[in-house]
Amino acid sequence: MRIGWGMDVHRLGGEPPLLLGGVVVDDTRGVEATSDGDVAAHAVTDAVLGAASLGDLGEHFPSDDPRWHGADSLELLREAVRMAADAGVRPRFADVTVIAQQVRVAPHRGAIAAGLAGALGLAASEVSVKATTTDGLGWIGRGEGIGVVAVVTATVAS
Ligand code: MG
Repeated sequence: MRIGWGMDVHRLGGEPPLLLGGVVVDDTRGVEATSDGDVAAHAVTDAVLGAASLGDLGEHFPSDDPRWHGADSLELLREAVRMAADAGVRPRFADVTVIAQQVRVAPHRGAIAAGLAGALGLAASEVSVKATTTDGLGWIGRGEGIGVVAVVTATVAS
């Protein structure tokens, strides 16, 4: 049994739309990013890599490498799942929390879970998506950015 934890933050203000788990959750906002800026996919990818002790997203898909410019972040997640599988580690469940002040996540929770689950090789029921605000406090409260934290449990082939 393994547990991986991941976190990602992006600055709001880039080109719309805002993607979470491959789902357009806001077509009036975007994030600054070299990839498609899917902050949920990035946090979950780091959690998968963490469960497999394989380093981090930035190490495998560096943002200064033109190959990843505009990258489909769910494809990066699929690649991380393949790398974990090669190390004998298989994700079993993910719990994902989006931290944002104005972005409305609730109407998209099921679709985000399904998007992440597809890339993880899991059923949508094996991915939990939650959202919270910071009660208006700090940079998230001022709408300057969006954060996602994720936990992934995984099993190791014996
Ligand atoms: Mg990121």
